[in-house]
Amino acid sequence: MQIIEIYRSLQGESSFTGIPCTFVRLAACNLRCVWCDSEYTFTGGRKMTLDEVEQEVMRLALPARGEAAAEPGAAKGIPPRSLVEITGGEPMLQERELIPLMERLLKLGYTLLLETSGERPLEKVPKAVHKIVDVKCPGSGEGGTFRMGNLETLTSRDEIKFVLADRADYEFARDFTRQHRLEHRVAGVIFSPAFTKMPSPQRDSANCLLDPRELAEWILQDGLNVRLGLQIHKFIWEPATKGV
Ligand code: SF4
Repeated sequence: MQIIEIYRSLQGESSFTGIPCTFVRLAACNLRCVWCDSEYTFTGGRKMTLDEVEQEVMRLALPARGEAAAEPGAAKGIPPRSLVEITGGEPMLQERELIPLMERLLKLGYTLLLETSGERPLEKVPKAVHKIVDVKCPGSGEGGTFRMGNLETLTSRDEIKFVLADRADYEFARDFTRQHRLEHRVAGVIFSPAFTKMPSPQRDSANCLLDPRELAEWILQDGLNVRLGLQIHKFIWEPATKGV
């Protein structure tokens, strides 16, 4: 597999937000979202075998099983140190190696999250994985790339995420959510303000392309049953920091 980095931080943008997590960041993406904060993943990285990735995850995240038995339940009922997120880039571009890796990590007892753009087919992802699936909005420059067939792969573990740059994106997300009754398909629907590509070092919402307060007011006005998501790692560390 082509891997950019494997590291430990806090999960930053889902219903698992704030929980310590081991991240496996895969190289390459076939989309080019205008506000992408992960362009450093488009090329490079290093080749690692499945064994090497597994060993590194275990080194950072172990002991998952032992602690699970000794200390049942931290946040969300997840045993300490057992949360692992596969992200990118677009991880499903390496589907051939990624599916066996996910199967191995599930067997070892990890709780697995998969962050994906929603453009690649997801039917082969093991059902026990929590998929966090983007639907790209028009303001991303990649609107229309969501693979509609992926709606049928969603389970009550999964989450759908819209990253919003402006009011037009919000209206797209609102209408898509209603039209496809997303809140009945998944564990959560996340509306998250996009961040500017050139953030100031300040850890505040001035770096958001869409003011979270404005977004909150729109959600309340429209009575939507969605979660406003903020990328908390960009409020904890300087927004341009990598590997957090
Ligand atoms: S899908 Fe993700 S990694 Fe790819 S360009 Fe868009 S934001 Fe960046």
